[in-house]
Amino acid sequence: MCHHNDRVYGDCVCPNFAMDGSTIHETNLLMNCGKTLTNCGGSTAGHKRSGKYHGIIGTRPFATPGKFYFEVDIKFTIYRRLQDKLLFEIGVARREETERNHTVSGSKYGWVVCASTCSFCKTICLQTLHNRKVKRHKPLIPKSDPGNSCLAKVGIFIDTRAHQMVVIDAKQKSLFYRFKNVDYSQPLWPVFGTYNSGCASVKLTTRTARDVLVPSIYFKE
Ligand SMILES: [Zn+2]
Repeated sequence: MCHHNDRVYGDCVCPNFAMDGSTIHETNLLMNCGKTLTNCGGSTAGHKRSGKYHGIIGTRPFATPGKFYFEVDIKFTIYRRLQDKLLFEIGVARREETERNHTVSGSKYGWVVCASTCSFCKTICLQTLHNRKVKRHKPLIPKSDPGNSCLAKVGIFIDTRAHQMVVIDAKQKSLFYRFKNVDYSQPLWPVFGTYNSGCASVKLTTRTARDVLVPSIYFKE
């Protein structure tokens, strides 16, 4: 993965990619030249995807050896008690995993960070998940009280040779979770999902290529 408009910092590439409008689920809406996804869907643009994923797939996979970084600005507001647990998810997955379910967090070939109501901490918390298992969770806001809103920023480091995906709290510039044994033997695609449109507004905006700076925490690793 190396293209003309990528930005390179040392040995790390900030790839130039967007969200692929042809992969969007009808419950989601794409704006801002393919950079912003919301959960206010109902799009009648005519795309009928076979996949069940309630979100969208990036325009380029992580398919070549290397280190890559991108960020996502997150905003959500709760306006009614949540009916489903999940508000958003951001991650990577094999393409075919998006055909199976509304989320890839239950997959052997999906690695995600998401916000969800949580049975452990009883809040809406930031969670990393793989293969149905919660790896780390950290409270974001009290549980689904109407009017609560949250601004966050997540960074995703991909290191294919080290078989890792590192989730950064990009607002606090701290490491949130390090996935090990990530299987990059097949291309992994960036995935973005937004949920719970009846009870919350959710917005994800990607920061890629020239719109992102690799945080120094990365180089200290
Ligand atoms: Zn929790």
